[in-house]
Amino acid sequence: MTAMPKDPLPEIQALITRHWGYRELRPLQEQAIRANLERRDSLVVMPTGGGKSLCFQAPAAYRTGEITVVISPLISLMKDQVDALKAAEIAAIRVDSTLDEEEKTQAARELRAGRVRLLFASPERMMTDRFQSFLKELGVRTFAIDEAHCISHWGHDFRPEYRQLASIREKFPEATFHGFTATATEQVRQDIIDQLKLRNPAVLVGNFDRPNLLYRVLPRKNFVDQVLATLERHRGQAGIIYCPSRNKVDQLTVRLKDLGYNAMHYRAAHPDESADQNTYDRKATHDAFRAGTCDLVVATVAFGMGIDRSDLRFVLHTGMPKSIEHYQQEAGRAGRDGLEAECILLHSGGDMMMWKKMAEKAFEEKRIDRALLEHSKSQLEQINSYCNGSKCRHRVLVEHFGQEFTIENCGACDLCLGEIDFEPDSTVIAQKILSCVARVGERFGGGHVASVLRGVENERILKLEHNQLSTFGLLKDYPDRAIRDWVSQLVGEELLTQTSDEYPVLKLNGESWQVMKGKRSVRLTRLGKAAPKRSQAEEANWEGVNVPIFDALRNWRRELASRNGVAPFTIFHDSSLRDISRVRPTTLDKLHQISGVGELKLKQYGAAILELVGRMSKEIGLSADNSTEVLKPETKSRQVATMAATEAFPYFREGKSVAEVAQILGKAVSTVGDYLVGFIEEKKPESIDPWVAPAVRDRAIEAINEYGRLRLKPAFLALNQEVPYETIRVVVAFMNARS
Ligand code: ADP
Ligand code: ZN
Repeated sequence: MTAMPKDPLPEIQALITRHWGYRELRPLQEQAIRANLERRDSLVVMPTGGGKSLCFQAPAAYRTGEITVVISPLISLMKDQVDALKAAEIAAIRVDSTLDEEEKTQAARELRAGRVRLLFASPERMMTDRFQSFLKELGVRTFAIDEAHCISHWGHDFRPEYRQLASIREKFPEATFHGFTATATEQVRQDIIDQLKLRNPAVLVGNFDRPNLLYRVLPRKNFVDQVLATLERHRGQAGIIYCPSRNKVDQLTVRLKDLGYNAMHYRAAHPDESADQNTYDRKATHDAFRAGTCDLVVATVAFGMGIDRSDLRFVLHTGMPKSIEHYQQEAGRAGRDGLEAECILLHSGGDMMMWKKMAEKAFEEKRIDRALLEHSKSQLEQINSYCNGSKCRHRVLVEHFGQEFTIENCGACDLCLGEIDFEPDSTVIAQKILSCVARVGERFGGGHVASVLRGVENERILKLEHNQLSTFGLLKDYPDRAIRDWVSQLVGEELLTQTSDEYPVLKLNGESWQVMKGKRSVRLTRLGKAAPKRSQAEEANWEGVNVPIFDALRNWRRELASRNGVAPFTIFHDSSLRDISRVRPTTLDKLHQISGVGELKLKQYGAAILELVGRMSKEIGLSADNSTEVLKPETKSRQVATMAATEAFPYFREGKSVAEVAQILGKAVSTVGDYLVGFIEEKKPESIDPWVAPAVRDRAIEAINEYGRLRLKPAFLALNQEVPYETIRVVVAFMNARS
């Protein structure tokens, strides 16, 4: 046996603290970094803000004399990452179409000199022969594929140029590949592994819950008012408003500007617009938002992929997205810095119809096949039930991605906060309203219908003899306002149609009849529902923060960033600025203890920060040098998924079966099966006899040796389908642990 090389992790840890200023690694980051250093392929799935970039950046920085190539879909993403790395004093370079010949030559020279640790490139460039031979010459052995879901057409952001990356595995047979994505569906995950031809990858899946996000879903009513109410809650903060179409983007931007908001728009060009002008406008919006000179963007979903800004405090959707994956990706752009943020979704029944029609059209025009059409439809059903369901939003999202959610009350969604008050008799009320619309001959508006239902004997009603109708007075116990509100909810849900004439008239539609026949149930909310509350995360994240100092630090950062031509978050994240305004340090030592303040940043900005904080604390009369105890440890819930796995380890050590451990921990057998694989890979036990009978194990080893470890299906078939997949996986893990 060869001597075990010494554990590189403590050294990496020190390097991370020095350059990035982070005190500790998140559990999955540690595993991802280990896989990378052990030269084992990996697929790292973590939600946005989970800290994926460190997983490839830290090993790259650690391996002197070697270059890691990072493939990234967008120039702006690359630029931000390179800027942030430079700010942490790590040599990184990007080659993209914006470089001129001289810059390219310069870049090539630096790369050949061997000082550069990370090279960022687009997939298109990666596919050129010239670039590939250059990388060979440089001896590249490590590739990181960022936003790896772009390779899968099951994902929400398929990019054909990513698909071609499949071929680089053959060109660089010696290299290891590491995929990174925030898209968590099993299908996409498997597709990435297949497409990138990952070899026995370490698949590391993080906890998909984002406890710092507060989710709200509201039926769309007076949507401009709803937008304004959201903006009111987020004065002085940054956010994105997503609209479903270019026209809606334009209308809302104009409206907000009229109202005095510094809003900018971002969308594709209208057919009658010059494409160049639009590209120019988009770039202006993008740059202003990145630089923090504009905090509010109204956009179609095209905006965002390139947005690395970590301090978004809200993302508002004015229409329903077409899948939960899309929603998770788009809304997930909020609160990447781990601080509280709000995700609000406004929807109406029509949104679903619109997406369905679009998918059907795409199918008819042969742009998608039947499988994809069916897939889109089922995705629509899922997001629709997210919108209309009454189950905790965090729970729905987490369970959608196949994970368990163990918290009863999340304290961070409209339902758990008790903000939504449903009318218990909703369906019956809806039936009464709809039949009244029928009785009055579909010739009157909401006001009249409400009066009839309330049993008002006014002149008009008496004259029309509507007091003789069977629906007269059916809702006499409810106030006029409530009935009118329900009418508009029904219209919003498209269970009732309202004409758009000068005097709008209510008419029944197909769905109305479904409701009246009792084939469809309805949920109506009560008026005057509770005002939006603050989540626990929000309370905690502001605790002890002096807001004027925090604001002053943000202004200081914005100016500095604009002088240096970088995005503010590449200097400091909001979380560090909040901690500084909590502790209010007077010495460099104390400042250095704050997460995100690495050595270089301390040297560069320490004096300026101490000066600003000292001056303001004195002015306001605040205590300084508070204990760093006031700092919150990193949100623990992120770590729950992996913690749960290790929780099972002692039982495995005792030789307990998967079923037994599942019983003890109260988890699903399949989940515990995953834990066992993790246990075997990590703890490398001498034998797997407690879980697989020796005879079965030997047969499986034989089959796996013959058909390979990568795909389990051939081995499964060779074993006459007698050995379940779970068992084969355990044996493969055992073989890996031994080799
Ligand atoms: P992702 O790429 O997964 O969306 P990022 O790599 O942008 O996430 O990291 C998200 C946030 O977490 C950033 O603000 C980053 O500075 C912070 N972060 C990452 N790793 C750590 C760590 N180990 N300790 C503290 N903060 C971290
Ligand atoms: Zn909840």
